Amino acid sequence: MQAELEQLLVLQDRQQKIKQIQTEIKSLPQQRQNLEAQLAASAAAVAALKHKGQHLEMDRKKLELDAGTRQESITRLKTQQYETRKNDEFRAMGNEIERYEKEIRAIEDQELELMDQADKLKVEVTAEEKKAAATKDSIARQMNDLGEKSKALEARLQELSKERKELAEKMDEDVLNRFERLFTSKGDSAIVAIEHGVCTGCHMKLTIATVKAAEGGKEIVNCEQCGRILYIPA
Ligand SMILES: [Zn+2]
Repeated sequence: MQAELEQLLVLQDRQQKIKQIQTEIKSLPQQRQNLEAQLAASAAAVAALKHKGQHLEMDRKKLELDAGTRQESITRLKTQQYETRKNDEFRAMGNEIERYEKEIRAIEDQELELMDQADKLKVEVTAEEKKAAATKDSIARQMNDLGEKSKALEARLQELSKERKELAEKMDEDVLNRFERLFTSKGDSAIVAIEHGVCTGCHMKLTIATVKAAEGGKEIVNCEQCGRILYIPA
């Protein structure tokens, strides 16, 4: 019986490792997705700044056009001023010219402000592009590492599965079935130690009879509370 329990402990160890590795393998796609999301966010940050720059340029061109049409109006009014002989018309045109000139100055102030913003944005874009390039490199490395990790995990999984299969083949079928059922239902510990008369699976106190039976080692003893297979640690 002792040999059987020892086999079960080794089997359990392999199965626990297999489960752990399977969990790790399952988490890999999510890790890849996270990296892809980081990459996309970094590219989007650069694109957003560039987009902002395009808008600034469009706004500035619009202001330039606005100033241009006013300048044309001034030129037209000045020509008309020379052609008129009426003083009040001359004065009215003079007022209009002044109004346009004032508007042009305001537009030019706005243009300068936009150009200033565009200059600052250029610095931001350069910094963001540098950051994005570094992010891209780092993510490429991490993706590569994930690929390597995936290969290593798959190889280890195959190794462990083979070991597990070889162990299981040597075992009594009934014992194996009991173990498998417990392993599935209890998460990942089907065989647990007795420590100070307590089942280390459910932490309940065992009866003296159960402890004695386990110590006797003539049969497979289960915890009366949780049903796990019990062994006395060496
Ligand atoms: Zn128990």
